[in-house]
Amino acid sequence: MNTKEDILIKPKPSGLEGPGFFATSIDKAVGLARANSLWPLPFATSCCGIEFMATMGSHYDLGRFGAERLSFSPRQADLLMVMGTIAKKMGPILRQVYEQMAEPKWVLSVGACASSGGIFDSYSVLQGIDRIIPVDVYVPGCPPRPEQIIDGILKIQQLVESESIRRRDTPEYKALLSKYGIE
Ligand code: SF4
Repeated sequence: MNTKEDILIKPKPSGLEGPGFFATSIDKAVGLARANSLWPLPFATSCCGIEFMATMGSHYDLGRFGAERLSFSPRQADLLMVMGTIAKKMGPILRQVYEQMAEPKWVLSVGACASSGGIFDSYSVLQGIDRIIPVDVYVPGCPPRPEQIIDGILKIQQLVESESIRRRDTPEYKALLSKYGIE
């Protein structure tokens, strides 16, 4: 059983403080809140999805990172987790799910199949989801262990925490989306 001492409190962002006050920037406060309340949308198509189920189970418990609230509705999710082999026929569906998610949103590609087609170098399998949507973090492995999936989530959290709340309005971000034909 966890004791009070086992509970890790996230440190507050850097800022100015004195007796009775603490001031930081809005970017840091919003980043801290976003990073620790991710709502993942699991797009699981094959074996990597089983590893994700283990990651959500009580032993690994993704809820420890504020991400236990899974969403099967793109409009109520901010982290798209793609896990498994993506057939070319499924590509447009994955892209539609991505487009339906509101900004800000992030993408985690879990396992060799989602990241590069994996062992399926065939006419029917998409050779990496980054051919149709931008990816923020890749998790290697076939299958990756739950520890690796958690490591991927932690990398996403670092990104989210350090990202400016205006990044999505920058010309660089718009140029990235327009490379994928997404407005
Ligand atoms: S990477 Fe390996 S474990 Fe994951 S979906 Fe592909 S074949 Fe299955």
